[in-house]
Amino acid sequence: MNSEHDEIAVVGAGLAGCLLACFLARRGHRVALYERRPDPRTGRVERGRSINLALSERGLDALRRIGLDRQVMADALPMRGRMIHPVAGEPQFQSYSAAGDRAINSISRGALNNALLSAADALPGVRPAFDHRLVGLDPATGEMTFETPQGKVTATAPVVLGADGAGSAVRGQLLAYGMLSESLDFLDYGYKELTIPPLGGEFALDPAALHVWPRGTSMMIALPNPDRSFTCTLFWPTHGTASLASLTSPAAIERHFATHYPDLVPLAPNLVDDYQHNPVGVLGTVRCDRWQANGRVGLLGDAAHAIVPFYGQGANCAFEDVVELDRCLDECGDDWVAALPLFQARRQANAEAIARMALANFVEMRDRVASPVFQARRRVEHALERALPGRYVSQYELVSFSTTDLQLALAARGYHRAASPVDLTVAAAAAEYSAVVLHHDRAFDLIEDVGGP
Ligand code: FAD
Repeated sequence: MNSEHDEIAVVGAGLAGCLLACFLARRGHRVALYERRPDPRTGRVERGRSINLALSERGLDALRRIGLDRQVMADALPMRGRMIHPVAGEPQFQSYSAAGDRAINSISRGALNNALLSAADALPGVRPAFDHRLVGLDPATGEMTFETPQGKVTATAPVVLGADGAGSAVRGQLLAYGMLSESLDFLDYGYKELTIPPLGGEFALDPAALHVWPRGTSMMIALPNPDRSFTCTLFWPTHGTASLASLTSPAAIERHFATHYPDLVPLAPNLVDDYQHNPVGVLGTVRCDRWQANGRVGLLGDAAHAIVPFYGQGANCAFEDVVELDRCLDECGDDWVAALPLFQARRQANAEAIARMALANFVEMRDRVASPVFQARRRVEHALERALPGRYVSQYELVSFSTTDLQLALAARGYHRAASPVDLTVAAAAAEYSAVVLHHDRAFDLIEDVGGP
């Protein structure tokens, strides 16, 4: 039995867990940070597992609060819009903001994780424990069981926080004790990573854009890396006649890409090898009705609310969770029994809002970005942003370039058309943002004038 009874246990030294350890240590707590893997700072990157991600304002806001934003942003590559690649013809650039000055940032997931881990590790009171896989948890006593290379060990903590990702073992334990129920909605789609290496030492595509190949039933995106390569992610159904499983020979792979992604082929010399050897990742939305038990065990990040990656917000929202939990602890005087339910009350509807927006963005990215009507709609949005600076803000801007409540960002688009009771309540309650919501309403009128969304 571990004698460190007063340490708060954070399970999972991923993005949310490491950031959380930093915030808790700043509050004067002692933290044991348990991670099932070896120290990532000494290990190698797993092949074909999302090596970069888009960091935007919600994530940056959290990093600023611990003084890590500059270090992380030093290697970031700003992407000011989407570059749409049609099957034939020239790519078209669609700016994310009216003035073209706002960017989301492509960063290395591994470098971000390592920076956060080193920041946590450097703080007095944080004790990382690698090679510790949580396999058991008694939510009443806080006793945890870990598998380690030396065998099973136990430890007890006054508070256990599950930041252990979409397949959370902490959530699984709460489920086994009947303390929550969960729903896992997997998409029929999976993803596979491919690489565009540097061309003559330079980026083979414009590094200031997120590249999108919208193909209706499939989609590929590419984000730039600091080494001047791009990581492409192909989203396609996992099974069926046209699916990730349907290309079984090098010739079939080459034929498929030559037909549907012809401009990629000369830029990806390892295409066949990548396709055949990189794993297929699954995509889904995790929801659970309770994010805490007894004020003693809590969930955050993907463990509480994993979402599909099409709005680029999963990590950003996991970081935002940490900021909100810190705020709840402030307001509750570090009383966990009060803070954990307050955290759930504040964040759960926002998590649901981004889950819905992320699913809707999949349809937008794989299909609608290429349509003239969508492009007209973006032009109208940008015209309104220019005409009504600060009063009209598009949903994309609210989500990616602000820390506005995500429920409001969802309502700002859904209000006019869906008008569900929740949307209306949010819109009405958000008096200070009502201009945004109402101008969106007017934007929809204008959009419908030009042919409907
Ligand atoms: P994770 O990052 O999954 O970390 C969980 C940690 O817990 C890991 O270190 C894991 O090893 C550890 N762990 C798991 N089980 C145990 C256990 N039993 N015991 C101990 N430790 C354990 N988000 C964005 O914001 N922008 C993007 O552009 C973006 N792109 C994405 C692209 C793809 C293809 C995918 C799949 C996701 C993307 N995301 C993006 C989402 C983002 O990766 C996640 O939301 C984010 O990683 C969640 O962080 P987390 O710390 O909650 O979980």
